[in-house]
Amino acid sequence: MTRTTDKALNVRGATKTYRTQSGEVHALKDVDLTVRQGEFISVVGPSGCGKTTLLWSIAGLHRLTSGAIALGEEWITGPHASIGMMFQEANLLPWRTIRKNIELPSEIRRIRPDEQRIDTLLRRVGLEGFGEKMPRELSGGMQQRASIVRALASDPTVLLMDEPFGALDAFTRDEMNKLVEEIWLGSRKTVILITHSIAEAVFLADKVYVMSARPGRISRVVDVPFARPRSLALMETREFFDLVNAIKHEIQQQPPAKSAVARAV
Ligand code: ADP
Ligand code: MG
Repeated sequence: MTRTTDKALNVRGATKTYRTQSGEVHALKDVDLTVRQGEFISVVGPSGCGKTTLLWSIAGLHRLTSGAIALGEEWITGPHASIGMMFQEANLLPWRTIRKNIELPSEIRRIRPDEQRIDTLLRRVGLEGFGEKMPRELSGGMQQRASIVRALASDPTVLLMDEPFGALDAFTRDEMNKLVEEIWLGSRKTVILITHSIAEAVFLADKVYVMSARPGRISRVVDVPFARPRSLALMETREFFDLVNAIKHEIQQQPPAKSAVARAV
């Protein structure tokens, strides 16, 4: 693995086979990925191609069958304070206030939460004054904003997002996309966004990684040429539309997924 001075994220030969009662599922095969520090990439691909498996492995939540992942000089072998994660659902504990939910990862790691940073982030995402509310008092979009704050509270180097806005309505989703770009422009975290919306992938990322169906591997990397900050009006331009369509074709041309389960011999 190449050693770099900055905190580039390196995935090398990532292979994951799940062993199930009915046989083995080859979820990832030899995935290589390098994300420079501060780069924003997105990953798209057919359902079941291993996107979540890849992201969870990077987060240290899954153990690879073979291959390795490193952040800068450090191997990722388990959950890591420099890596924050956002899921499709906000996953806020209903019996804890928003602030107590945001503090939970620090609590688990037994470190003191940075209250000032949390307040700044709450203000940043438009949730000033909502820290003492309960999750049920917030809309879906607001809950996802709170979960962005939770992911960023420990000031991670890397932010991982697994289809974070899939459950939101189109309007709220556009708002969240603008917010994510603003936060990224202000903080330059390394971001990996998984999404089933190719438009969202193109709108937000510097590069779009296209994954092929099982076993998942990277089939193509597409550079996104649009200047930043990007406005929502970009999505209505011919250039944007053409790039989204090219990626869509790339995904559609892939051979259909092999059977999910390869019988263990
Ligand atoms: P994606 O996020 O791209 O939809 P996943 O990473 O969730 O794909 O899943 C990739 C493949 O691995 C799928 O065939 C899925 O059924 C299988 N899979 C995912 N998690 C498990 C698990 N815990 N046990 C067994 N198979 C799994
Ligand atoms: Mg998934």
